[in-house]
Parts: sequence; C-alpha cells; structure tokens
Amino acid sequence: MSENVRVRFAPSPTGGLHLGGVRTVLFNYLFARKNGGDFILRIEDTDQTRFVPGAEDYINECLKWCGLTPDEGPDAGGEYGPYRQSERKEIYRKYAEQLIADGKAYYAFDTQEELEEKRAEIPNFQYGHSFRHELKNSLSLAPDEVKRLLDEGTPYVIRINMPSDETIYFDDMIRGEVSFETALVDDKVLLKADGMPTYHLAVVVDDYLMKITHAFRGEEWLPSAPVHLLLWEYLGWKESMPQWAHLPLILKPDGNGKLSKRDGARLGFPVYAMNWADPATGELAAGFREMGFLPEAFNNLLAMLGWNDGTDQELFTMEELIEKFSLERVSHSGAKFDFEKAKWFNAEWIKRSSSERLTEEVASILEKADISISNQQSLPKVISLVKDRCVLLTDFVPQAEYFFRQPAQYDLDAVKPKWNDQKEEFFESFASELRESESFSAAFLEETFKRLAAEKSLKIGDVMLPFRIMLVGGKFGPTVFDIAYLLGKDETIARIATAITKFR
Ligand code: GLU
Repeated sequence: MSENVRVRFAPSPTGGLHLGGVRTVLFNYLFARKNGGDFILRIEDTDQTRFVPGAEDYINECLKWCGLTPDEGPDAGGEYGPYRQSERKEIYRKYAEQLIADGKAYYAFDTQEELEEKRAEIPNFQYGHSFRHELKNSLSLAPDEVKRLLDEGTPYVIRINMPSDETIYFDDMIRGEVSFETALVDDKVLLKADGMPTYHLAVVVDDYLMKITHAFRGEEWLPSAPVHLLLWEYLGWKESMPQWAHLPLILKPDGNGKLSKRDGARLGFPVYAMNWADPATGELAAGFREMGFLPEAFNNLLAMLGWNDGTDQELFTMEELIEKFSLERVSHSGAKFDFEKAKWFNAEWIKRSSSERLTEEVASILEKADISISNQQSLPKVISLVKDRCVLLTDFVPQAEYFFRQPAQYDLDAVKPKWNDQKEEFFESFASELRESESFSAAFLEETFKRLAAEKSLKIGDVMLPFRIMLVGGKFGPTVFDIAYLLGKDETIARIATAITKFR
C-alpha cells in the first residue's frame, strides 16, 4: 500500500469494553502493524447524556492489558489532536453550517413536545422527506421566519437533508458492494441543540481531518453508513473517504442473535475484557482478565472470532497474527462465541508460556488468595511443574497453593479406611532415611521410596497415594517426587509427620 495507512478505534466511553469492541481494536491494530501504518485511539464522547465516569480509563487500561497500544490518542498525543471529540467541539459547527449553505442540511426548530405529538399521531414516524415539509425547519418555513427564529435564539438542531429517492453504494472490504435506499433513511441530526455534533457528523469530520484511510467497525454500524457516505460526498471529501470494513457480529453460543452482556451473566462467562463495575448501579460485569485469561490467549481467541488463515492453525502469536492477518479471510457471517473453546485457548497459552512469563500474573493471583510466597525463587519452578494442569490463571491457586503452605485439609476418605501400622512404619522409616541422608533429589526420593516399599512388602500404589495426600492434601498434582523435591527435605519430613497423625 503506497499511502500511509491510518486506522482508528473510536469508542464512545459509555461502559466496559465488550469482547466485540476489543476484537475491533485488534483488527485495527493488526492491519496497521501489517501495513506499517498508524493506529489511532479517538474517544467519541460527544453525547454528554451518556458520559460514564471511569470508562475512558477502563479503555486505556484494557488496551494496555492486551498490548494493543495506540500510536496516537488522548494519552499518546500526536499531530492530529485533540483526540477526544468533546475537546473538538468548535471544529464541527463550521462544517454543519457549510452543509446548510450548500442545501445539504437544514435548521430544525421543533421542540421535543412537538416531535412527541407527531410520533403519537403517525405510526413509524421518521423525520425525513415524507414529513419534513409539515415540521418546523428551514426547508418548510419562509426565510425571514427562519432568520427571526435564529435571531431570537430559538433552540435548533441541524439535520442532514436526505435525498428522497436515491440508491447509494459503497464497497465494503469484507462484504463487497453494499447499497442503501435513501428513502428509508431519516434526516439524522448532525448538530445538537447544545452545540455538540452527533456521532454521524463527528465521525466523518474526524476521519477526514485525522486522515483515516481504513475504518473497521462492528456490523451494527452498517445502518449508519448511508448518512456517512452522503456526508463525505456533501462535504466534498469523497476522494478521501476511508475504505470501510464492517466486522461480523459475535453471536450467542447457540447462534441466535448478538452476544450481549446479559448472556454472559446468564450463562456464567465474561463478555467484557476486564471487570466493569457500573458506577451508577454498582453492578459488576465479569471480565476475561479477572477470570484468569492471559492477554495472549484473549487476543488469539478474538482473532479467531471471524477470521482464520485458511489452514487448521488456531494458535497464533501476535507476530504471526500481524504477518498472516488479511481482510479477505474475515468472514461475512457472525461468529458464535464458545466459552469452552475460549478456555482451550487459554490452557494452550498457559502451556506454551515460559514460567518466567507467567510469574508476575501468578504471583498476583496467589497474593490475592492470601498465599504468601515465602521463597520467590521457587515460584517459576512451581509454575513449570503445574502449568499444564491450569486452564485459567486462577487454577494456579489450588494447583500451587500446597507448595507454599501445608494442606488445610486432607482427603481422608481416600487414605483413612486403608491406613494401618505397616504403612505408618513405612512413612516413619522413609522420613528418617530422608533426615539422615546427605543427598536430596527427585530421583533419590523415588529410589528410596521404592526400595523401602519393597523391603516392607508394600505395593507402590498403596503408599504413593497417601504420600501425595500428605504433601498436597488431595489426589491431584504432578509427580509426587517432584513435589517433595521442590518442597525441600525439612518440609517434606514435617508434612509426613503432621499427616500421619491425621491418617490414624
Ligand atoms: N463511536 C462509535 C462506537 O462507539 C464508533 C463507530 C465507528 O467506528 O465509526 O463504536
């Protein structure tokens, strides 16, 4: 691509980021990186009635967690700022007025009450070509009346003048040619009574001024495209219009409709990237991060929601995604979300990550569970022993806990009924051999254990399970001699002694 590719993620800061929102970020990011372009974050906060405190910080933190850092934006800066639309208020008005001067937009003075009346009177009322002549606007009123209303400071909005009967087209990078009948589209408000632009005007003006070349957004924005298309044309910028790609919806697990926040709560899985506490209601929506997902897995699973590289490969590093991503392989139809599959991605990513990579996350999860890591040095070793058993990062709590504290409970049902003096003697001898021996390694432990069992005519299996329960508390975990070795000689001996008293 010869032009400098510039893409943008343009969220309205109205709440937590749905996984579909993060997938939009990811596709923007991959496209920018692949083409050596710029990825811009623009905060679309012109609707002051929908302002939610904390939502912008949440977006920033989320992009940081996913490693999808913008090149330009409110925090990163850049030469096309400001990147928050509320700080660009003065820019938009002149374009709205230019549209009026060109006959492409008009002033509308109708009050809320008058519009309510119309809605009550006319089923499926739309402010558009069928009714605009009956309403109070600069197309229906005489010019001197319009002037008087303006001079008196009557509140007004500016609306686009939609053609009554045209078919308009654009070429979507994913869907191909898409067409719209303008007759079906209402005269959208472009500038509100408070002087703020609506999304429709602001998105076009900013995409133009910020030299956006490609715009990726969710399919739910497709119905707005005709308004945007006409604005690009009416403002005389058609040549500079970005190429659009409307990304397929992320569907409920059964494929019936768009995945919503409520589906997550209903089916017990997160729909947001990170926990989001609604500041108005205090309601908490669960996030993938807090549920124990690695950002690598989250990005990977999002990439696969609507895209594949044409092979069976499912696990991709960010570098591979950047290299292989192509819009031709983004599907037109919605992608069903499958939480079991999402967990599979996470388990695979935990397996393929080095224990050093996982240390920080696991340390913080253990800390939250009040497990104090006495010996920092051993944490990476613990991680490498148990990581293949963890699907979520939170699984490190039960899987690693016993390395840092004695089991709080023992699966006594599994040992007590078969416990006897012979076994007790075996463990006492085993502990005393360990105490007296100079060497201590997993191999030494295993060899001593097996030799003693043979000497006492005990089947290995009959003492192996009690040994595991002595150290771990339950019937799980990696090879028991590896566990004992990591616990160290003194701790292993101490755990044997404590457990014997409980097994009797
Ligand atoms: N502000 C819109 C949103 O909240 C952006 C849509 C677009 O990318 O054009 O998603």
